[in-house]
Amino acid sequence: MAKKQFKAESKKLMDLMINSIYTNKDIFLRELISNASDAIDKLHYRSLTDKTMKIKKKDFEIKIDIDKDNRLLKISDNGCGMNKEELENNLGTIAKSGSLAFKEENDPKKNIDIIGQFGVGFYSAFMVSDKITVNSKAYGEEKAYSWVSSGVDGYEVNECEKENYGTDIILQIKEDTEDINFSDYLSTYKIQELIKKYSNYITYPIKMEIEHRHLKEGTENEYETHNETEVINDMVPLWKREKSKITEEEYNTFYSDKFFDYDTPLKVIHTSAEGLVSFESLLYIPSHAPYDYYTKQYEKGLQLYSNGVLIMDRCEELLPDYFSFVKGIVDSPDLSLNISREMLQQDKNLKLIAKNIETKIKKELLTMMQEDKEKYQKFWESFGMQIKFGIYDSFGMNKEKLEDLLWFATSKEKNYVSLEEYVSKMKEGQNSIYYACGETLSKIEMLPQVEQVKEKGYEILYCTDQVDEFALKTLDSYKEKKFVNVSKEDLNLDSEEEKKKLEKLNEEYKDMFEFMKKDLKEVKEIRFTNRLKSHPVCLASAGDISIEMEKVMNSMPVDQKINAEKILEINSKHSIAKKLKELYKKNKKELKEYTKILYAEARMIEGLPIENPTELATLICEKLSK
Ligand code: ADP
Repeated sequence: MAKKQFKAESKKLMDLMINSIYTNKDIFLRELISNASDAIDKLHYRSLTDKTMKIKKKDFEIKIDIDKDNRLLKISDNGCGMNKEELENNLGTIAKSGSLAFKEENDPKKNIDIIGQFGVGFYSAFMVSDKITVNSKAYGEEKAYSWVSSGVDGYEVNECEKENYGTDIILQIKEDTEDINFSDYLSTYKIQELIKKYSNYITYPIKMEIEHRHLKEGTENEYETHNETEVINDMVPLWKREKSKITEEEYNTFYSDKFFDYDTPLKVIHTSAEGLVSFESLLYIPSHAPYDYYTKQYEKGLQLYSNGVLIMDRCEELLPDYFSFVKGIVDSPDLSLNISREMLQQDKNLKLIAKNIETKIKKELLTMMQEDKEKYQKFWESFGMQIKFGIYDSFGMNKEKLEDLLWFATSKEKNYVSLEEYVSKMKEGQNSIYYACGETLSKIEMLPQVEQVKEKGYEILYCTDQVDEFALKTLDSYKEKKFVNVSKEDLNLDSEEEKKKLEKLNEEYKDMFEFMKKDLKEVKEIRFTNRLKSHPVCLASAGDISIEMEKVMNSMPVDQKINAEKILEINSKHSIAKKLKELYKKNKKELKEYTKILYAEARMIEGLPIENPTELATLICEKLSK
């Protein structure tokens, strides 16, 4: 029979495949196995509806044979097969709908999109083969036909010998090039690996002959080999099995095999959903952050299957950034596999699934927080930072979704509390949620500003992560209670009488403070305060930028200095207040020196750098030796 030409569109696609713009060549095997599985599905369905057919489910199989010497890879199935017309129509044409217009083939990026939109299909085999032979016999027909093509120049269909119904696809694997070792596809090991990776959950057995080597009986170092046909795939995926029949160990083993984590996961979430879109998901919350979790190298995503066929190893669209730590798989029959395997991003069903998953993860985390605080603590230590970034990110777009997951050490509790707990325990008359920032809990505990709030009986959230205050500022309030940094200039905790008294005192010493301030350029104001109990001084901040934020922002590698508006507060009841007043009258020079020391003290307490430590040390020593 004379050579036939491919339809124009097919020819173009094949051109792309042969010149393999598409980088992931491995997927050809997945495509061929999926086709085989589809063909078996068709016949299986027919056998279920046509009682005269005597085929049992257990007879169905996909078989892989490797002939290294002749560089042949064969994929056989006993599915529905194709008759002559079907061979021509199905393999001689693609894009049967004809809706596809090839544009700008010379733009490699566009080309990948085109391939993606199709689902790469049968033609992907041309990425690894010089010649493809398809021997097929349709179920119930006498004759078998062979379709042969070496690529763009066309194909031939001829009658051939084939005993059983079904299809054999025989690939003539390309010779190795400098860049690509096509011989890999003739290695049992590699093919096994690819089946495990992409087609493990195909519901029919995928069989292959595996060579076994063992000691020859009666000898000590002579080996012999024999071949055994083995089923390579697991067939029934764990997530498709009944929940109540899966052991914890099975869940955990699956997790460590699949996601290479030696540690058992903190939480397993196994769900199935039906409705607008059906899907099964098996999700894991790891018990620790991967070493690269907080780096750019980390890639989020879930494995995506359609009816047990792996479509994508890491589908990013299924997870929001703030839940990027979640590992797992999603399997849905409602994804348009045939139109697009590589480009599901715009898929509506995928978006629905993602939303559903997000809600589920949040719910599970909240339950964990309420029912197993120890576990949640563990979670928080690993991934709390990510949740806080999630609040701060995108101008707080997701803050409402995440605020209930926040978790804090406080001035009262040994254990952590959620915002909801904090608010529910607020004292009468308390209108704000107080927080304090510092490097460690013990450093915060010793902050002078913490004292007064604690004395009032108010609980304080302790923030030790750099992102904490940014997240709280983004939230602004929770259940209509404002977040207030205890270091803020005015906490408004004094009684009216106390306030008036202090105001008068500050008015009286206005000149003294003006004098003191002259040398402290970055200090906006100096004043007496009532808020300190045992400590002599502290720094408060006016404006929007707190002192903690100044520290964080200045530690970042950008060339920009951020300054909080600082107020030096002096304890009005401390003996140092009296001393300052005296000096103002008698020894202005010494007052200047005192001011310098006090300001340095206040900076030290806040963990701010001292500009000239040597000068300060000398000054203190001078005073000490007097
Ligand atoms: P798709 O699978 O996305 O339809 P392909 O290019 O992979 O596209 O395959 C084209 C068609 O060829 C299939 O729809 C199917 O009808 C037929 N086909 C491919 N492989 C087989 C097979 N092993 N057995 C029977 N029919 C097959």
